[in-house]
Amino acid sequence: MTWNNGNIKPSLLLNATFEPIGVISWRKAIILTFLGKAEVISAYHQAIHSISQTIKLPAVLRLTRYVKYRRQDVKFTRRNIYIRDKYRCQYCGKVFEPKDLTYDHVIPRSRGGKTTWSNVVTCCHTCNLKKGDRTPKDAGMTLLNQPREPRWHPMIHFSLDAQQIPDPWLDYLIWHPAYNPPETSFGIDND
Ligand SMILES: [Zn+2]
Repeated sequence: MTWNNGNIKPSLLLNATFEPIGVISWRKAIILTFLGKAEVISAYHQAIHSISQTIKLPAVLRLTRYVKYRRQDVKFTRRNIYIRDKYRCQYCGKVFEPKDLTYDHVIPRSRGGKTTWSNVVTCCHTCNLKKGDRTPKDAGMTLLNQPREPRWHPMIHFSLDAQQIPDPWLDYLIWHPAYNPPETSFGIDND
């Protein structure tokens, strides 16, 4: 088989319920289709050619039978906090490069604030300095969003970032919290 284009995109795999459950390679996508385990919902313009046939590459596939899977918790890391907050300082609202960001305990640790999803937010260095060891109220600062534990889909979350998400996937991801720029992890304790 040969390619008509070197830029190979993966396929989005949906459960029988249309819920995205993962990102798979084109090879796996085609195998699942041939085995009758999945149907192609949407295809790319790209195709592979064998001697006897041309197959458009699946962009979105849906499993023919419902598969149970376990939703994983998103790992609590510095980088995942940035991702949850879309690299936006939760006080001044500006977007920064990771190197210009830090994280802030909303309720300071000195006042019993915990290092958890619901008490840690993305913060720029300026706002971090300004807030110091105070609550947002005491510092006269307002949070953009109330922090909470994110619900990303694990496989999608760890596979692509937002700019790389193929168009045909958007219909299936837009309502899904997985539609977020992802990254791998940096430990909050060890970076
Ligand atoms: Zn800021």
